[in-house]
Amino acid sequence: MSSPLLAEATRIAREFDYPADQVQRGVAEYIRQSNEGLAKENTTLSQIPTFVTAVPNGTEKGLYLAVDLGGTNFRVCSVQLHGDTTFSLTQSKIMIPRELMASGTSKDLFTFLARQIEAFLRIHHNEHFEAHQRRRREGHEEEELFDLGFTFSFPVRQYGINSGTLIRWTKGFNIPDAVGHDVCALLQSAIDHLDLPVRVAALVNDTVGTLMARSYTSPGETGTLIGAIFGTGTNGAYVEKLENITKLKHIKDAHYDTHTGEMIINAEWGSFDNQLSVLPSTIYDRDLDADSNNPGIQMFEKRVSGMFLGEILRRALLDLYNNAQLFKATETSVPSDSFLHRQWGLDTSLLSDVEGDTLPQMPKIKAALKEHLAIENPTDDDCKAVKILTHAIGKRAARLSAVPLAAVLIHTGKLDTDDIVDVGVDGSVVEFYPNFEGHLRDALREVPEVGVAGDKKVRIGISKDGSGVGAALIALVASKDETLKNPVEKSS
Ligand code: ADP
Ligand code: MG
Repeated sequence: MSSPLLAEATRIAREFDYPADQVQRGVAEYIRQSNEGLAKENTTLSQIPTFVTAVPNGTEKGLYLAVDLGGTNFRVCSVQLHGDTTFSLTQSKIMIPRELMASGTSKDLFTFLARQIEAFLRIHHNEHFEAHQRRRREGHEEEELFDLGFTFSFPVRQYGINSGTLIRWTKGFNIPDAVGHDVCALLQSAIDHLDLPVRVAALVNDTVGTLMARSYTSPGETGTLIGAIFGTGTNGAYVEKLENITKLKHIKDAHYDTHTGEMIINAEWGSFDNQLSVLPSTIYDRDLDADSNNPGIQMFEKRVSGMFLGEILRRALLDLYNNAQLFKATETSVPSDSFLHRQWGLDTSLLSDVEGDTLPQMPKIKAALKEHLAIENPTDDDCKAVKILTHAIGKRAARLSAVPLAAVLIHTGKLDTDDIVDVGVDGSVVEFYPNFEGHLRDALREVPEVGVAGDKKVRIGISKDGSGVGAALIALVASKDETLKNPVEKSS
């Protein structure tokens, strides 16, 4: 073949191969770890019971509220479900003042959130709001409350569909007095204090929202089996038989509706195989992990998700730059402050730009190198080397993504039924990385239990807005849950 540079790039790329036999071993191990997670606490796969016991089929109707607290913005929305797989959504987004994130009390924060809900209702649902205030003044008992789904993206220990205590804050939040308290109760009491016609009906995880949103919007009346996110991080939720979730009986104070015989499990699959018994590892994966702030943790996520793919590529490129002839032509310039030299300096969107360039002149690759890394005048061989590595890293991520999907398909036995099995996915990586689904499907097909039959049988579709329409749907399911109205009694 060609130049020593391309030969070296090709050699490194091969280290990212993830062949069929490894996919199969990965699937077997995933099934093992997932069964362990259903039986016990403190396992690699957390397999968290969500207490959501029904999935929508597209015929659901009504007006629901959803709020999302999990990062820089607080989002409030109302969702009108039309009952024909369609919905309309109205939303507002408010930046959370820094002082409320870290120095105040939980009362300050939750009062702020309740005020935003009030402002939203006054603007978008004023009639309902005023009618409620009037009925309150006139002393009516019967109330028409909005059911609200609360997407709260911090670690919580959940006890029911609308109760869960905060384990710890992450992402820059730090309000110590909230830790150990039920976040739904905190929000409800702030709402009640302002006398708003709102009931916090459900605590929502974003992957579960993704599953629910897809199940409502997907064609046909069959429910969705899996909701999966491939964005900043990766995680998935799926529908499990209640009888398989044997650890439920150890959860004290758990209360849930048993009539469907099912419950959605939040797998937390980003931490699949933290012990690295089956996951592939290159020197770049090992160094990335060692230099991260949580070594040994989220090992699957570190090979698959948007937060990490750019950094894996950066390390491989830097290796070629230091030890081969990448970006070394006289006409090529790499500034000393190029993000090539900076940890986490390479955004995963570069991989999509590079992979998406199919023209012989490689204009998008050149533009991306300039834009992301300030590299000017790369040679054609440089660009080809970048493409070879990008392709290898992206393809491995997509093939790895097939592992949890295949495992859940096999474990739930859904491949043996006549129905289409529906999978909802969300996140920039699966949405924008060229042919991510194609590579994922190639690997799925190589799992004998899935095989070519899976091509038709497994339907994969984008599911946007899990924390909006998904959360609204969970509020709906929760509002129909009899155990909530009388928490002491378990329905059967
Ligand atoms: P979030 O997971 O926070 O909800 P996204 O689904 O948009 O948000 O994922 C953001 C992640 O996706 C970031 O890590 C970012 O680097 C990566 N990303 C953004 N754009 C692209 C793209 N075009 N192709 C691949 N990855 C992307
Ligand atoms: Mg997202």
